[in-house]
Amino acid sequence: MKPQRVRMAHNLLLNYGLYRKMEIYRPHKATQEEMSKFHSDDYVKFLRCIRPDNMSEYNKLMQRYNVGEDCPVFDGLYEFCQLATGGSVAGAVKLNKQATDIAINWAGGLHHAKKSEASGFCYVNDIVLAILELLKYHQRVLYIDIDIHHGDGVEEAFYTTDRVMTLSLHKYGEYFPGTGDLRGHRCGKGKYYAVNFPLRDGIDDSTYESIFVPLLSKIMEMYQPGAIVMQCGADSLSGDRLGCFNLTLKGHARCLDIVKGYNVPLLLVGGGGYTIRNVARCWTFETATALGVEVANELPYNDYFEYYGPDFKLHISPSNMSNQNTTEYLERVKIRLFENLRMLPHAPGVQMTDIPEDALKVDTEIHTENPDKRVSIQASDKRITCDEEFSDSDDEGGPVRREAGKLRKHQENFKNKRLKTDSNTDDTNTDKVSNEKVSETISEKNTEQVSEKVPEIISEKLQEKISEKLQDKTKLNTDEDVKKADELSQNGKNGDITNKNGDLTEKNGS
Ligand SMILES: [Zn+2]
Repeated sequence: MKPQRVRMAHNLLLNYGLYRKMEIYRPHKATQEEMSKFHSDDYVKFLRCIRPDNMSEYNKLMQRYNVGEDCPVFDGLYEFCQLATGGSVAGAVKLNKQATDIAINWAGGLHHAKKSEASGFCYVNDIVLAILELLKYHQRVLYIDIDIHHGDGVEEAFYTTDRVMTLSLHKYGEYFPGTGDLRGHRCGKGKYYAVNFPLRDGIDDSTYESIFVPLLSKIMEMYQPGAIVMQCGADSLSGDRLGCFNLTLKGHARCLDIVKGYNVPLLLVGGGGYTIRNVARCWTFETATALGVEVANELPYNDYFEYYGPDFKLHISPSNMSNQNTTEYLERVKIRLFENLRMLPHAPGVQMTDIPEDALKVDTEIHTENPDKRVSIQASDKRITCDEEFSDSDDEGGPVRREAGKLRKHQENFKNKRLKTDSNTDDTNTDKVSNEKVSETISEKNTEQVSEKVPEIISEKLQEKISEKLQDKTKLNTDEDVKKADELSQNGKNGDITNKNGDLTEKNGS
């Protein structure tokens, strides 16, 4: 299982130099216990056990859990689920701890997975698990889904609660997964909290924006979420192998830009997308959008350069397909949805109880008096840093020092914020650094190729500070640094981020 789409996106945004504004983290592997916060124990256990070489022993269970056809068994399936989930949950933790404003896990976004059932190449619903984490700190969470498919797994998971509102814009009508009509299907307290905009083929940028903007505006006014999770499935782009919409990168990312404008803690996840060169383009552009930076249309040379021919440009053009979403149809749907939204109480409250324990344990590594443990911060930085990927910068001492400097800079500039490293996991778990503005993670599952894989996280406002820091050639493990780390950690809190992905092939999907 090669996480090709995410690998390509990651490589492209590295070569655009976006990593200079990002913090990069390797995902922790979500445990069976973490996944069972939503999924049934027996289903997670099944995912852990099933392999291509023992499938014949599991025929009955494969049927029960819908694994085998649209959701094939492959080598590394469970680890794929662990990393995709770990990234999104860790992003949520980081947002909860106010260690970042935007966290990104392009490997996540597997919105079809159900409690005890795989669906559309989604096995574990990282989104639901991340939302559950956000609900520990936020009264209301808004989920936005711009994948071409209905976000059915997320909608269903929060069927009866008003603490999560789901907004999904998707192709509807003889199309996977078959749900997502205008009425929405939630009940009890959850009634009217599933906002579905069923669309026809060929929707273009301007039409999409004309419905997205007023709808989101009304939702934000009525619901006032404390955090937002946005699924940026790229199968809604023009030219997708499975899709039938006509969005360009600009129209797709425009939605993100609008969401970002509300300045609410935001977790971005990936999702579908089956023309992988465009998926990589899209998520690279959206990473830049999250950062608020311009990127050139001319693609930089990268490891997958040949995929982007013949034009080797970032942006794509819409096709000449007809837009079957007439103005009358869209207005009619919009009016209905607005009527539903008016039925809702304004920003429903919830009685908060004690905050449950965070999904990820607060790391104690930095508090330890064992000097070997402190060194491990640097050691971990080495593990996640790839000389080749960062080699375009000839400044100051190479990537390891740069990463170390990044940590130090955080320590210097965010003394009132928490900084923590996460020590509770195995070698695949690297240190976490608090961040101010944007966090993005991309990583890969193959821990034996650590030098090629770089999960990442971004910081927007930090950029200048990081640049300054790059001038600094001192090493992390000087006495002074250790002292600063200690000071900071004593004020500190924690957060982390992770992620991972696999290449989604042409299935009904995400
Ligand atoms: Zn999809």
